[in-house]
Amino acid sequence: MRIIDTAYIAGDFVPIQGGERLDVVDPATEAVIAKVRLANREDAQRAIDAAWRAQPEIGRSSKAERIGMLRRLEAELAARAGDIAEATIAEYGAPAARVGFVTQYASQVFGSMARTLADYTFTRSIGDARVRLEPVGVSALIAPWNSVAGTICSKLASALAAGCASVIKPSEFSPLQTQAVTEALHAAGLPAGVVNVVTGRGTDVGDELAVNPRIARISFTGSTATGKIIARAAVDGMKRVSLSLSGKSASIILDDADLATAVPLALNGGFNNNGQACIAGTRILVPRNRLGEVVELVRSTLAGLHVGDPRAPSTIIGPVASPAQYDRIQRYIARGLEQGARLVAGGEGRPEGLEKGYFVRPTVFADVSNDMDIAREEIFGPVLSILAYDTEEEAIEIANDSAYGLYAYVFSGQRQRALRVADRLHAGTVLINTLRPELLAPFGGVKQSGIGRELGIFGLESFLEPKTEVAA
Ligand code: NAD
Repeated sequence: MRIIDTAYIAGDFVPIQGGERLDVVDPATEAVIAKVRLANREDAQRAIDAAWRAQPEIGRSSKAERIGMLRRLEAELAARAGDIAEATIAEYGAPAARVGFVTQYASQVFGSMARTLADYTFTRSIGDARVRLEPVGVSALIAPWNSVAGTICSKLASALAAGCASVIKPSEFSPLQTQAVTEALHAAGLPAGVVNVVTGRGTDVGDELAVNPRIARISFTGSTATGKIIARAAVDGMKRVSLSLSGKSASIILDDADLATAVPLALNGGFNNNGQACIAGTRILVPRNRLGEVVELVRSTLAGLHVGDPRAPSTIIGPVASPAQYDRIQRYIARGLEQGARLVAGGEGRPEGLEKGYFVRPTVFADVSNDMDIAREEIFGPVLSILAYDTEEEAIEIANDSAYGLYAYVFSGQRQRALRVADRLHAGTVLINTLRPELLAPFGGVKQSGIGRELGIFGLESFLEPKTEVAA
């Protein structure tokens, strides 16, 4: 049985003072595989103090030194890809495709940021002024359980490139992935205190980060509800805040799309990470005159889609992360049926033959109208809705009629037409005929999906504060 009872503070793995313990359960087998001791408010304060002490030196470090650190992080994360993969499977049942993406992403974001930084100038002339872009200061990086390795690494890359020391607060539900990532951060040999990691509850460790006056900036990824709590707490201290939040993204299949390619891609985009992805395309918009064809393709694609042991190479969908996730998803499937949606595949209960583990049946509803709960609320499981539209104009209207605006997907046979549609969508990112994002380009949401952008130059600048100097 693995025991995790240390935090990473000032360059060392140190005993956690907090007394609460949590079992880590493998969601595919329901076996307890590790025990974690959770950090408390005092542990968070020690980490903040360590970052505070490290801030002046990292703030003055040269671009070349930071690029060197980013490159070492890239190499150490790549060297531990196997450990991160194993933890990601064990802790939340991620299937092979997801694991490959997560492990590559975790190292690539450091490499991408090193390239961004190499081309970046921290001083500009504007009129008579010299404008210096200075590190904002000690930063809190708060991550959710469903993409903890990627979120930690992308936020850390930007913070470090800008010259900010940080305190990372990963979700309390992902200690194994956090441990694998933290070992890589340690191996990169950054100056003590530049990066600190404390795994604890949001209500004490997270809250301490939101209120502590030594924290200048919070970069948060998680649910919209929590993001609002953090933003409210942060404003009292005038902390800089960025929020990367929940989503209910639309996948628009245009009438000229090759359905044999578009439908499986749209389903993959929706079932991403067993449906537990903020960017999942969970509303699939299809032209009414092609609805029958789409439904048939959905049925045949799902019939060949293997649900089960996340370690089996053929598995596309593994278990959801916890009993709470399982119950939540079941409630939404029941609500879809109650509100009159037509079940095309899946449904309530467990998939046949899977009596252990938090497995749900990948579910697709048709005849969904955009006012049903399953079309409006983030379910965070493999439950997709098909909505029919009559005109391209109506498709855009339905896509934009959402509280959220993180991602959108467009599938079309004509690139220019798809780009015209993309221009009109209220979303932070639109992917056309692909599920592959660009790691140098900004990532973030509009409306209830958040405030601010991560990655590339926009991510870097979110950790910088401009200072204007005018000399007579
Ligand atoms: P969550 O909001 O419950 O928790 C996120 C983090 O905030 C965790 O580390 C948690 O401990 C912490 N937290 C909770 N309460 C806090 C408080 N009062 N003060 C400070 N910190 C607090 O989210 P989750 O369930 O871990 O993650 C799933 C959600 O995250 C989904 O809504 C998903 O869409 C969203 N998400 C968004 C993105 C994105 O980039 N937009 C990426 C992944 C997940």
